[in-house]
Amino acid sequence: MTVAATAPSSPHVMNTYGRLPIALSHGQGCRVWDTTGKQYLDALGGIAVNTLGHNHPKLVPALQDQISKIIHSSNYYHVPNQEVLAQMLVERSGLTNVFFCSTGLEANEAALKLARKFGHDKGIERPEIVVYEKAFHGRSIATLSATGNPKVQAGFGPLVEGFIRVPVNNIDALKAATEGNANVVAVFFEAIQGEGGVNPMHMDYLREVRALCDQRDWLLMIDEVQCGMGRTGKWFAHQWAGIKPDVMPLAKGLGSGVPVGAVVAGPKAATIFAPGNHGTTFGGNPLAMRAGVETIRIMEEDGLLANAASVGAHLKAGLALALKDELASGAVKEIRGQGLMLGIDLAQPCGALVQRAADAGLLISVTADTVVRLVPPLILSAAEADEIVAILCPLISALLKETA
Ligand SMILES: *Cc1c(COP(=O)(O)O)cnc(C)c1O
Repeated sequence: MTVAATAPSSPHVMNTYGRLPIALSHGQGCRVWDTTGKQYLDALGGIAVNTLGHNHPKLVPALQDQISKIIHSSNYYHVPNQEVLAQMLVERSGLTNVFFCSTGLEANEAALKLARKFGHDKGIERPEIVVYEKAFHGRSIATLSATGNPKVQAGFGPLVEGFIRVPVNNIDALKAATEGNANVVAVFFEAIQGEGGVNPMHMDYLREVRALCDQRDWLLMIDEVQCGMGRTGKWFAHQWAGIKPDVMPLAKGLGSGVPVGAVVAGPKAATIFAPGNHGTTFGGNPLAMRAGVETIRIMEEDGLLANAASVGAHLKAGLALALKDELASGAVKEIRGQGLMLGIDLAQPCGALVQRAADAGLLISVTADTVVRLVPPLILSAAEADEIVAILCPLISALLKETA
């Protein structure tokens, strides 16, 4: 069965996405329906955004209540829920202070500014920041410069200077690349690379980088925009290594679909910005803050960290079992990730799976050309995980056979 071309052609919307011919109309839990009435199981969650799924019975009335009171007021005034959400994030991260914005790139842009000013405050005129191969940090000029994907950068030079690029999980390469360089101010990476193909940083590497940053007085800045907010079964993915960053950008899942971004800072970075150094009109507005507060409250009430861990492990095991022959032959290279952030890395490009899965009633994405990425809502049930396996794995097997 093929999906009807339901999405209207877009004569006026800029052509920046290779869209599927699908327009979603509404959702319930982990299910969504398109404008023709076709139902899908949502294993993409709006790209790790819809933490609580769709039409959540606790979130929707709270947001309705907020919208009827005040949506936006401006940072000229106090927004009481900024303090509430900041305290929630501080308690769960062990850090101390929060700046609110609206998107991931904005959170990362603020982190990069913090690192540069950290350097300038120490008398470093040309601060440099260590970034990683295959990293993704956003599409502003600075964050695309920090991104380690030539496709994201192509056509937008000159890039922002002051970045040193190293491979992941190689402490010797990091030491060699920064040897004797007094301009280094920060190390910046995703705890689990998302767009780069679901590549986790190793636990011992995270601890080694933490120690190196302490030794050399660098900021450790961990981009948790995609892997954070409970997705791996802990609030933040780096917490599995028992470390704390100095700066932690968040966005995606923080507002369950309402745009909310944040930069959480520890003592070393919390007082770098002074009034006038940074700001944004929408950041921390009353609707966004209510969405963040309610998302965390509901996640805790409903035990969603534990659910992400257990259903994620169940899903990973189910995928490994269903693809055991393909794993044995090497046609499937690896199933990576933790909790409900999983990647199935094939030995060949697999972009065709996105449409085939949609035709079969399952929403997924393919990233880094060869990696099927699953980042469903954190409310996913074990039965829904089984359904993902039942729909997806035969499609993967069939694709591999076609090209074998
Ligand atoms: C999505 C993403 C970003 C960019 O977020 P936007 O909200 O699209 O600007 C940055 N970092 C990571 C790790 C991401 O996954």
